[in-house]
Amino acid sequence: MNLIRHCTEQCWDILQQISDPEIPVLSVVDLGMIRGVDLNQQDEIVVRLTPTYSGCPATDVLKDEIEQAFTKHALTPVKVIVDLSEAWTTDWMSQDGKDKLKKYGIAPPKGEAHSCGTHVALSDGIECPHCHSLQTKLLSEFSSTACKALYQCQDCLEPFDYFKCI
Ligand SMILES: [Zn+2]
Repeated sequence: MNLIRHCTEQCWDILQQISDPEIPVLSVVDLGMIRGVDLNQQDEIVVRLTPTYSGCPATDVLKDEIEQAFTKHALTPVKVIVDLSEAWTTDWMSQDGKDKLKKYGIAPPKGEAHSCGTHVALSDGIECPHCHSLQTKLLSEFSSTACKALYQCQDCLEPFDYFKCI
């Protein structure tokens, strides 16, 4: 039993080092993309991964990266399953992840996804990750990627990305 527990912890440690290709400062664990690490009846390590945004081309890259990292640590056989039973939501992002995002200069999702609904309500007043001012203005609903919106701070005048709540 202990061996399995130890192995699970090691698995999570490794996953914590695998970053999201779009936001390299966040790991797949920070984002809440890993839905579980289990051993199946064939003694295979099964990692369940839910991609952040549908149609994200990064999923295959991540699958490969996880498999390679586990193999490197002799944690085999490993299987990465893409779990689409539930759509990923920003609610799954860890507090740690949100803090890292902010330090990186991206405003983390505000509030809970279920209160935003499927239509992302964007308003002014998202906290500026640079100077923490709430005097900010939405410039564009889409920034570098569809999952981010572009804001500008009215105080420090810095533009910043806001990671939308979904
Ligand atoms: Zn500012």
